[in-house]
Amino acid sequence: MSRVTSPLTTAQVQLASAVEILGYSPGLHEMLATPRREMNVAVPLRRDDGDIVMFRGYRVQHNISRGPGKGGLRFAASVDVDEVRALAMWMTWKCAVVDVPYGGAKGGVTIDPRGYSDAELERVTRRYTSEIMPIIGPERDIMAPDIGTDEQTMAWVMDTYSVNQGYTIPAVTTGKPLAVGGSLGRATATGRGVVHATVAALADAGVDLREVSAAVQGFGKVGSHAAHWLHEGGARVVAVSDVDGGIRADDGLDIPALQRHLAGGGRVTDFPGGEPVSNTALLALDVDVLIPAAIEGVLDEATAQGVKAHWVVEAANGPTTPEGDRVLAERGIVVVPDILANAGGVVVSYFEWVQANQAYWWTAPEIAERLELRMREAYAAVAQAAREQSLSLRDAALTIGVRRVAEAHQIRGLYP
Ligand code: GLU
Repeated sequence: MSRVTSPLTTAQVQLASAVEILGYSPGLHEMLATPRREMNVAVPLRRDDGDIVMFRGYRVQHNISRGPGKGGLRFAASVDVDEVRALAMWMTWKCAVVDVPYGGAKGGVTIDPRGYSDAELERVTRRYTSEIMPIIGPERDIMAPDIGTDEQTMAWVMDTYSVNQGYTIPAVTTGKPLAVGGSLGRATATGRGVVHATVAALADAGVDLREVSAAVQGFGKVGSHAAHWLHEGGARVVAVSDVDGGIRADDGLDIPALQRHLAGGGRVTDFPGGEPVSNTALLALDVDVLIPAAIEGVLDEATAQGVKAHWVVEAANGPTTPEGDRVLAERGIVVVPDILANAGGVVVSYFEWVQANQAYWWTAPEIAERLELRMREAYAAVAQAAREQSLSLRDAALTIGVRRVAEAHQIRGLYP
């Protein structure tokens, strides 16, 4: 049995590896490892039946050297401050790797949204936003959806913030509905970017997307769109799953039919066009490309041993533990790391923020083209660094991200 490695340990081990390659001092390492600012708040909820329940809420700004904090808001029962710290640190490196002018931040509330009504979730969101109001804002820290939150959540955050400031401030959140200043292409951006990263990694080996089979773990805001764009691009998507389990069809799933099935109120597990497969078994399917698009830590020492894919493209944040990473590397499996592979979301978040600040909205083709360009450029820079310095793609991406943050910090100088 492999030891359970927490997301924060994973993030810290990854940073330590980059710091060693970069040859930074222990003091600079500690600066880079330490969140700049954290807020830990109580979030009381009056339930629809009048009872009161308490949740904890967090907002962690890991780094703000290159610009405002940026990152999602997660609603999950398992949220704790260390997980939020890890996710905030990954946002810092991610924003730097794709060179958007942000630091990294993340928020979380310890609530399982499935157990609450929309009205209750709205009250939780508004209370949490009010509590962290002093540290967020379009120039301070900009929120976006993550696990358990969506564009409606972002509309409530934006409204709560705006009402309290006295005027409408769309740029305080991204991933908003189009009606209140959202961006075309944001909802699908993370999944789309994952496929751009996949195409680039395959091209490095002279392989075309149309030649490969893929399995996608997680069919939410990221995995469903990744599966969609893989299918559109001609890949054979042979398995997908969500929290309840998955389905597989070795000839390829009909992804548009699955999406229609879900839109009609169906579940992944009762889709008629496939055989059942468990979430763990999905990781070990005989496919070319494996896309973990759900939660942290699913590829640990034991599950990594079973992976048969040649490429693992990390659509989730932190899906691979350091032990899992070591096993995948030993087995010659190429891992396209999360801070690169899933950065398409924050890239289009950046576009949304720019558009909101200019009050001028771009067309869907403009956004798609600029997203693809950013993803290609970021992948090319990471792959080149990996080749030149004989690094894994993860270490190459981390060193690029960490170096950009350290440079910003050093040029600004330490105050006082
Ligand atoms: N929560 C997403 C992520 O982990 C999006 C962050 C954002 O767009 O700010 O990358």
